[in-house]
Amino acid sequence: MRLLEGIAASSGIAIAKAYCLVEPDLTFTEKTIEDVQKEVERFQSALTIAKGELEAIRKIADKELGADEAAIFNAHVLVLNDPELIAPIEDKIKTEKVNAEHALKETTDMFITMFEQMDNEYMQERAADIRDVTKRVLSHLLGVKIVTPSTISEEVIIIAEDLTPSDTAQLNRKFVKGFTTDIGGRTSHSAIMARSLEIPAVVGTKDSTTLIQDGDIVIVDGLSGKIHINPTAEVISQYEAEQQKFEEQKAEWAKLVNEDTISADGHQVELAANIGTPEDLEGVINNGGEGIGLYRTEFLYMGRDQLPTEEEQFVAYKKVLEGMEGKPVVVRTLDVGGDKELPYLNLPTEMNPFLGFRAIRLCLEEQDIFRTQLRALLRASSFGNLKIMFPMIATLEEFREAKAILEEEKQMLLANGVVISEDIEVGIMVEIPSTAILADQFAKEVDFFSIGTNDLIQYTMAADRMNERVSYLYQPCNPAILRLVKMVIDAAHKEGKWAGMCGEMAGDEIAVPLLLGLGLDEFSMSATSILKARAQIRQLNKSDMVELAAEALQMGTAEEVVQAVTNRLKK
Ligand code: PEP
Ligand code: MG
Repeated sequence: MRLLEGIAASSGIAIAKAYCLVEPDLTFTEKTIEDVQKEVERFQSALTIAKGELEAIRKIADKELGADEAAIFNAHVLVLNDPELIAPIEDKIKTEKVNAEHALKETTDMFITMFEQMDNEYMQERAADIRDVTKRVLSHLLGVKIVTPSTISEEVIIIAEDLTPSDTAQLNRKFVKGFTTDIGGRTSHSAIMARSLEIPAVVGTKDSTTLIQDGDIVIVDGLSGKIHINPTAEVISQYEAEQQKFEEQKAEWAKLVNEDTISADGHQVELAANIGTPEDLEGVINNGGEGIGLYRTEFLYMGRDQLPTEEEQFVAYKKVLEGMEGKPVVVRTLDVGGDKELPYLNLPTEMNPFLGFRAIRLCLEEQDIFRTQLRALLRASSFGNLKIMFPMIATLEEFREAKAILEEEKQMLLANGVVISEDIEVGIMVEIPSTAILADQFAKEVDFFSIGTNDLIQYTMAADRMNERVSYLYQPCNPAILRLVKMVIDAAHKEGKWAGMCGEMAGDEIAVPLLLGLGLDEFSMSATSILKARAQIRQLNKSDMVELAAEALQMGTAEEVVQAVTNRLKK
């Protein structure tokens, strides 16, 4: 048995077998072969195993994930049955007397380059298919394991270096009981996704991929950040009891699903949810979300090889607006960059992607992308209570320019007779310190603020949110952060506007009392945190929290603030 510690990223406890999601090492050297017939047979046998495997995967994908996913594997089988690809590989082994690995790689690379250069989407997809099957056949020639997470069909805990948002989206919730990553912090996107999928997760473990082997029994304790590898029967039964306790606690919170969020002394706030796709709506409703405080639309653009059309976007936005039945829905315009990449935009690699060409910066430059999204949103607006929010606003000019583009698109649509809601609020995320400091000026022009503390903390503390070595600087309760939050809320209220928060801090049980005291109007969080926060706020007196927050603002360290809140909550 071994114990590993990381950052608790998504609460709950999972116990299952490890599934290591590591990229296989497919390196090999070119060799001359004496017995070419034997080498051809070795190649054919790798091919047969790969085909059998793909067939099996196709069946699982068809059953668990649907026809679209299954079609990808069908295409792969077709590639492996194509004599125009296979014959040249065998010929190469025979005539050049080279090993199968080399013949395979050289031949498929030639086809991949040829197809990729064609200005034809279909051929480019075939190039991707060839690349995938080459990896699979090569893995069998080399005797290394290749992983296919979308087809997992037994209960597992995923062990990965990191999970990109599109990896996470492919995981089948029925079987993936938990996950651990080597890198990342509480606000990296894999952690955020884990919370919205309600999968217990521990991130930033540094070396779980080296210490955990496939098939090890693992306990992921997403409440404390501990990971037990091959635990004793005694530890397993302790954790099973913990699991039970956690379920009972959730059942208690669930009683508040239809209640308002009102403090013990009668101050009402709104508890909203952060979502990534329309599929997340079910979780929002089940957890009593009073609105959507952040719809991260970038997921519509990810895990695919081209931009979503206006129509596709319209359908998604309409679904969310209708699903929320008139409750507020804050849709954030495209926020890519940082750890959310869109390979098909072919943007150059940057030294500091979190400080680079991302979010509104990209949208103001690539206006076709931005305008398409705005049109889809405006057209969907008449189906619910839409609020539009621009991410990563650093200057007032950026906001004015984005708003002017929105207005232009609106006028064009109106001229074409499209029905558009008349009261769409337009606001910004406050996630860059310059904007928080200048909030009094912004407040005159925006309809609302939503404080994005994941980025605001990263930029204020100069600590990369993906880097677990500096994750100790993710300090929501640092008085410096609290002062910025206060400036934003006060500035909004002075102009009669509302202020929300959609960073992870909004659902943090130590931060919630302070935010209530600072006067935050809307708290937006992972749906699974809502009921717990509601239970907490109903116990608190806002007037006491105003006092507590005022004290916290005068403290020197996050540690002191956390201590003061903890002491007060005990009373
Ligand atoms: C934030 O920065 O706080 C935020 C909510 O946006 P994201 O986590 O998507 O960057
Ligand atoms: Mg952000």
